[in-house]
Amino acid sequence: MKTLFTFAGLFAVAASMFVLGPATARAAEPKIRVMLLTGQCSQYHNWALSSVIFKRVLEQPGVFAVTSVVTPPKGGDMSGFKPDFTQCDVVVMDYEGDDWPEATREAFAEFVRNGGGLVSFHATDNTFPKWTEFNEMIGVGGWGGRTAAAGPKVRWRDGRMVLDHSPGTATHPPSHDFQIIVRAPEHPVMRGLPEKWMHARDELYSQLRGPAKNLEVLATALADKSRFPNASGEHEPVLMAIRFGKGRVFHTTLGHVGPRDVEPIAAMNSVGFILTLQRGSEWAATGEVTIPVPADFPTADRISLRAP
Ligand code: ZN
Repeated sequence: MKTLFTFAGLFAVAASMFVLGPATARAAEPKIRVMLLTGQCSQYHNWALSSVIFKRVLEQPGVFAVTSVVTPPKGGDMSGFKPDFTQCDVVVMDYEGDDWPEATREAFAEFVRNGGGLVSFHATDNTFPKWTEFNEMIGVGGWGGRTAAAGPKVRWRDGRMVLDHSPGTATHPPSHDFQIIVRAPEHPVMRGLPEKWMHARDELYSQLRGPAKNLEVLATALADKSRFPNASGEHEPVLMAIRFGKGRVFHTTLGHVGPRDVEPIAAMNSVGFILTLQRGSEWAATGEVTIPVPADFPTADRISLRAP
């Protein structure tokens, strides 16, 4: 019996190790590898500040490992800019600047086409107006000469997405608080969110144009003509999901940071912005979302800001 007990004991130890194995593995599960790609912006923005906020916001839920990749400055020598995109799961792009070398553009398109994730943030959709594949990845973009030739505008009318080929180029009303309306409640990024929430002091990008292929509108906001003379009067897409090959792209037009702004930045510290950025990054990387809706999420009539 002694021998039997010993064997039983050993078996119990082995069994417990077996049980502990996967649990330990789960705890040590590798984080989603984010490449935060930044380094240039127009005179209207401030990549040096927005990238700091990005890193903080993305590291907060404990599911991302963020590596910053900074391009040479505007007008600098881009010939050596060749990040290894295959070393990350998702590229979060805060970049509005000079063209990349052709080999880098090809490697980037290949990365997304093969299943890599991309997040396009605010003015990132102003960049690369002539790069066909990039425009397909982001769905729609603005400025940079994006006229009707760039593709249609994306509208939400009578409960569905409409492609509008009429003239008109990108604009936005002055920064203000506006309400965001969910249009795809079953999408992983949007699941469990209230149907409407308030977003704080931001530019409401309007009249963006592009190929708009394989694009799903996740949320819109009304550019209210009764309040702002230059508003489009349309429900403008502010959160979008785009498929490019096997890759997933999350496009948020939100998050303006001006050149002289200092923290706290209302737009980027809005809890709705923070959560959709985190969830959009997770979805773009894995196709799933595990990050829960926090208790401080805004309501239909009240903004919610998180202290930096
Ligand atoms: Zn802006």
